[in-house]
Amino acid sequence: MNDTEALIRSTWEQIKENIREENDITDIAYNIWVKPLQFYSCEGNIFTILIPDTNTGMLDYISKNYTNCFQDALYSLLSEKYEVVFILKTKDTENTGISDKESDSISSGSYTHDEDEVNESNLNPKYRFENFVVGSNNNLAHSASLHVAESPGKEFNPLFIYGGSGLGKTHLMTSIGHYIIEHSNMKVLYVTSEQFTNEVIESIRFGQTGSAGSTAMTKFREKYRNIDVLLIDDIQFIIGKPSTQEEFFHTFNALLNSGKSIVITSDKHPSLMKELDERYRSRFSSGLCVDIQPPIYETRMAILQKYAGSLNIKVSNDIIDYIAKNIKSNVRELEGAFNQIYAKSKLDGDECEMTLENAMDILKDTISPNRPAVVTAPLILEEVAKYYGISPEDITSKKRNAEIVLPRQIFMYLCREMTDITLKGIAALLDKKDHSTVLHGYNKISDEIKTNSELRETIDLIINNIKSS
Ligand code: ADP
Ligand code: MG
Repeated sequence: MNDTEALIRSTWEQIKENIREENDITDIAYNIWVKPLQFYSCEGNIFTILIPDTNTGMLDYISKNYTNCFQDALYSLLSEKYEVVFILKTKDTENTGISDKESDSISSGSYTHDEDEVNESNLNPKYRFENFVVGSNNNLAHSASLHVAESPGKEFNPLFIYGGSGLGKTHLMTSIGHYIIEHSNMKVLYVTSEQFTNEVIESIRFGQTGSAGSTAMTKFREKYRNIDVLLIDDIQFIIGKPSTQEEFFHTFNALLNSGKSIVITSDKHPSLMKELDERYRSRFSSGLCVDIQPPIYETRMAILQKYAGSLNIKVSNDIIDYIAKNIKSNVRELEGAFNQIYAKSKLDGDECEMTLENAMDILKDTISPNRPAVVTAPLILEEVAKYYGISPEDITSKKRNAEIVLPRQIFMYLCREMTDITLKGIAALLDKKDHSTVLHGYNKISDEIKTNSELRETIDLIINNIKSS
């Protein structure tokens, strides 16, 4: 790699961000066209950029609209005139360029730089209270978040927001951060638990290379002790990583004990984080735990309308209705479907009005309303096992320990509820001659969920995962 290439690789995300700012590119256009672009090579005065796609329409559109932007940005950075060439992904280009993962780690690393004042808090500028749609699925989480934003460190500390993927946890948490920054002098830091883990590992790694190590750890601790508000996203990922877990709890205790505010998100309620030490489970629940559920139809419509408004594009109501009726369990997917429509209408040119038929065709791989979701026993088995962090074989085994018995009963219950398999058939899947065990398991769960709301939530979450897989 030559020096210019090294410089480009290390600043690639920043170059794209600059282009976004310089050219006033909207969020959606940026996410669809510019963000995925990968640096491929820089040889002589030819600068090649990889489009991680095979669609030639995409190549035409990007070449037509973004060549000059990149040329100008490169000129400002390197004072050299480059000829910018875009190429599509082929077998030969795979494994080159900067992969998503690498570029993510480059951009996520940027928040540790002290000079990066604007980004110091590491908050996504898009996620704000103003563009969060409140519905019956999230109103408690929303009110609690507003409350914490208005008086951080007082009540509801820590605030623990949990729920399935793509339902707005990061959006709400980030909104709290923006609000506090705009209304106080407090120092806010947003970090995903993966970033946190990487930092712990880095500090420990340095720790093994002599005296610089203790400095690295001290710096790490200083950084986390010197903030007023810690927003830690997707805490479930630190579970099972003992050093990270321990370091997190030091940070957590230090901050809470000095009256600082902590907001945590997770895919499940603390009481269901079985691998976590009981002390911490109860500390997580010591403030307020609030959940976010999938939105109902009216809320899905409102989210899509707001989204369309923010992009300043007109999409007919029947298309919005079609998306809202067919994508139910995940707001990210709702927006994703909308983005597909938007991208296609841009490729076709703004003057063509999109019809419902066109939209249905574009979304045919995403939405198939006439095809009932095929829920099979292996799918249920896989999702139940995944949820409990055990193997499918554990569930079908003869093991009788409590960690396995409950998931097995849930498996029996869901097979009966979600498929046409007979009790005998379910018994056979579990290698049992007699179906009375299955009936017993089914009855046990169906009785218990009437009074045990935690179990009800767990099962709803698993059902959601089954439906969206
Ligand atoms: P999670 O962190 O729960 O996986 P995100 O916060 O990343 O989900 O949300 C996924 C996408 O859906 C984001 O683009 C977010 O802005 C959007 N979204 C989720 N809930 C809402 C809502 N109530 N109003 C507006 N946008 C939402
Ligand atoms: Mg999230």
